[in-house]
Amino acid sequence: MLSGAFDGDVGPGSGSPVKVLEARRQSLASGRWRWLKQAHGAGVVVLSPEEPCCGLEGDALVTTLPGAPVAVFSGDCALVGLASPQGVVAAAHVGWRGLLAGVLERTATAMCSEGATDLVAVVGACIGPECYEFSENDLGPLEARYGPSVRSKTPAGRPALDLRAGVHRALEARSVSISTDHAQCTACDPGWFSWRARNDMGRHALVITGAR
Ligand SMILES: [Zn+2]
Repeated sequence: MLSGAFDGDVGPGSGSPVKVLEARRQSLASGRWRWLKQAHGAGVVVLSPEEPCCGLEGDALVTTLPGAPVAVFSGDCALVGLASPQGVVAAAHVGWRGLLAGVLERTATAMCSEGATDLVAVVGACIGPECYEFSENDLGPLEARYGPSVRSKTPAGRPALDLRAGVHRALEARSVSISTDHAQCTACDPGWFSWRARNDMGRHALVITGAR
């Protein structure tokens, strides 16, 4: 499940009263949401029954627990949900630093360690290349890792990162098939939160519930 701006701010930094935030979340996915302290890195946590996990740092949360929703939040970065026929699921927050650090590949590895095969992904909205001017210095390593498709240009001809292309390349590298791609730009489309375009403090979410 992917929420949008019209669903309200469902992020951990939401200033809404706890009851209001919880009602908003439960209308999207029922159950006790679990999430990590996102760090724009490649930390992957496998949820266990004993581990409440909220408060732990990381950018991807894997679960095999039935009925346990795991959530990631964003206001421009890509959100990716992964599932498998074995009921092992994961939610990943993918900014450029996390992409470069291999957060998606590490998530796939963690899922396979839990017995998952035939991974399928849903890719959420993220900032598009036309809105994501990027420095040459930072583009270089991303291009070296994921190939020329991550390099793009803004309408003014400035270097830009195609984050979505990078997400696709990372998933392909681990043979993950993409079932749905919400190929929209969070900055162009006010249906999503965008820090970069509108200084939005709110966050939309991708939530996926364990099914094993
Ligand atoms: Zn855009």
